[in-house]
Amino acid sequence: MKVRAAVLNEENVMPSIETVTLADPAEGQVRVKVMAAGVCHSDLSAVRGVIPQTMPLVLGHEGAGIVEAVGEGVTRVSVGDHVIFSWVPSCGECYFCQHERPDMCDHAFMLATLGTLPDGTTPFSRPGQDGDTEDLYMFSQTSCLAEYTVVPEKGVVPIGKDVPFEVAAITGCAVMTGVGAALKSAGLTPGRRVAVIGCGGVGLNVIQGARLAGASQIIAMDHDERKLDDARRFGATHTIATAQLGDPISAVLDLTDGLGVDDAFEVVGRPETIQLAYGITRKAGQIVVVGVAKMGVNVELSAFALPAEAKHITGSWYGQAVADTDFPRLLEYYRQGDLRIEELISHRFALEELPEALEALERGEVRRAVIVMGQQGSGGEA
Ligand SMILES: [Zn+2]
Ligand SMILES: [Zn+2]
Repeated sequence: MKVRAAVLNEENVMPSIETVTLADPAEGQVRVKVMAAGVCHSDLSAVRGVIPQTMPLVLGHEGAGIVEAVGEGVTRVSVGDHVIFSWVPSCGECYFCQHERPDMCDHAFMLATLGTLPDGTTPFSRPGQDGDTEDLYMFSQTSCLAEYTVVPEKGVVPIGKDVPFEVAAITGCAVMTGVGAALKSAGLTPGRRVAVIGCGGVGLNVIQGARLAGASQIIAMDHDERKLDDARRFGATHTIATAQLGDPISAVLDLTDGLGVDDAFEVVGRPETIQLAYGITRKAGQIVVVGVAKMGVNVELSAFALPAEAKHITGSWYGQAVADTDFPRLLEYYRQGDLRIEELISHRFALEELPEALEALERGEVRRAVIVMGQQGSGGEA
């Protein structure tokens, strides 16, 4: 079938919205009519070459929709089910899948790099030169910045029909990544004093996760004052505008009896903010790196301090997601009013306006922008 899709043709050039061909779902695959897709920083990172991708590819990894057709042997979902995409469709067989860490699935990681489905193919193509067809690669086996997509059945999680698609869409990446970092990777418990560096879409969800866990102090840090206003609305108890301070470390020490926080979350992906996270954490505390830096970038830390201060440094990928159980749990928090997801959406765009949405994200103007399929161009503000 012919579908409109956001195609990234080359690094540093905004995607073009093109009419492309989508193959029917093969064995073990499903076709989903995408209803809403979030514009995530990782899509922008693909455009900017921070996350290397095989191109040309169809963007998008945070979305929700309706199962429209299923291939042979599909048992997880049926036509008409509402689903959220999981951008780590774990294989179930590698070491990590067998040891309760499907977020670390070797197979899913390799396929994300190759840009194909498990059988080595991609369902998207377009006319090439000389009457040939040209394959369009996939973004993490998802490619949901398109009217329809075809994904492995493990790449969808069925959800209740009461959940608005926009809410479901951003649960699949921003909410999972942020709340999961706080509740799962960090294992926050009541009374912890935490700091969150970087208060964009994912950072706000780390703040929500910390609030859910009962953290007694949540210090939000960002160079952008607008993001600190958001942070307060989502549960930060204190804010620090890093751009205006010569020494943000002493600002945190002043708020924590000179000790530093128990847990610091870095949600930026830069060496200097990782060093800042290390510096504001108390001895034997924990640093959780959520932000994704460009591949090849290193961070320098004091080798003496590693044993002498005994801080724990860890990372969090996709909020340590076990999508099948975590997505329904997150939506339950949403239904109870414990997670504010609708309020994360600051902008809505039509698919044709994706370049505009990415530019607004890059300028730091959005909490979360959502592409609403079938919507006419509106130009942003929700
Ligand atoms: Zn994402
Ligand atoms: Zn696996």
